[in-house]
Amino acid sequence: MPRPIQATIHTAALRANLQRARQAAPESRLWAVVKANAYGHGIERVYDGLRGADGFALLDLDEAERLRALGWRGPILLLEGVFEPRDLELCSRLGLWHTVHCDAQIDMLAAHKTHVPHRVFLKMNSGMNRLGFAPQRLRAAWNRLDALPQVDEISLMTHFSDADGPRGIDAQLAVFQAVCADLPGERSLANSAATLRHPAAVALSDWVRPGIALYGSAPDHPLHDAAGWGLQPTMTLATRLIATQTLEAGDTLGYGSTFTATQPMRIGIAACGYADGYPRLCGTGTPVLVEGRRTRTLGRVSMDMLAVDLTPLEQAGTAAGVGSAVTLWGRTANGEVLGIDEVAAHAGTLGYELMCALAQRVPVVCEA
Ligand SMILES: *Cc1c(COP(=O)(O)O)cnc(C)c1O
Repeated sequence: MPRPIQATIHTAALRANLQRARQAAPESRLWAVVKANAYGHGIERVYDGLRGADGFALLDLDEAERLRALGWRGPILLLEGVFEPRDLELCSRLGLWHTVHCDAQIDMLAAHKTHVPHRVFLKMNSGMNRLGFAPQRLRAAWNRLDALPQVDEISLMTHFSDADGPRGIDAQLAVFQAVCADLPGERSLANSAATLRHPAAVALSDWVRPGIALYGSAPDHPLHDAAGWGLQPTMTLATRLIATQTLEAGDTLGYGSTFTATQPMRIGIAACGYADGYPRLCGTGTPVLVEGRRTRTLGRVSMDMLAVDLTPLEQAGTAAGVGSAVTLWGRTANGEVLGIDEVAAHAGTLGYELMCALAQRVPVVCEA
């Protein structure tokens, strides 16, 4: 028998979350953001659930090739544009749309030989200070692009730094509008947080760009949780107990003996550790489901195993032992949900990071 750990990708949940995002932006077209191998889910595995999108946005060229290989003929947008001149050949060949965020990318386009002009998304840095042209340089970039025979339609995009938090988007939106209001072309302003939280950004967006919401994680956890946004988990990480132990008062558990039993207790050892992508930073008390019942982890996460408290199951009269089902995040067969964001919070991080970090060694199955 193989090691019992397994991840499941929920196709119906991807489809439902896509609908939820559309509901927040009914007038906009929608890029399904599938960078980082679809946030760790696998491009091929999410394709069926997300193919109802109007386009796919990503940044690795090999991921764009994989989408074309799956048969996707619609728009694909490179969110960071090209990295070197020969990337433009692939854009021409595969019909990729690409972001233009700096002068060097315009230089590459100007030197590119193509029969088919490229659709580009000109990116403004409206305050995030990561990628994009400064507001006072955007028009010059637009004029340069407009003069190039290699360029077809020019769209405009920017990215908000605080769509999920108290600063909000007003200042950046004002900067964008001050420069772009009278420029022609389609606009794309909203990631998941802006799509769900900021109608003003959605109203200006011909295209919205949700990522995390499609994968059933709240973009603004812990202010809201995924269920509160009507989002369903798309990835479940589950395993089984491979041993149990009985601790006496004073017994310690695991590396560093960070947990000490204060009374006799039964614990389970689950076949999941940090080498599977479960964060080692999740300390004692991280929620976990055993046989669908909520309990907590105990002590340090090791490379291949972690310990769970069986006390709540015993109190409820739920039998648990070797072979019992353990859900690290996601949902159980009978619909019990443990949000990935909640687990992530115990490691001081976000659902994004956990799903992206699912380890290669974990077998993954897709469920309709
Ligand atoms: C990753 C990314 C998104 C999607 O962000 P989420 O927070 O996952 O919705 C949108 N736009 C750009 C430019 C991105 O890089």
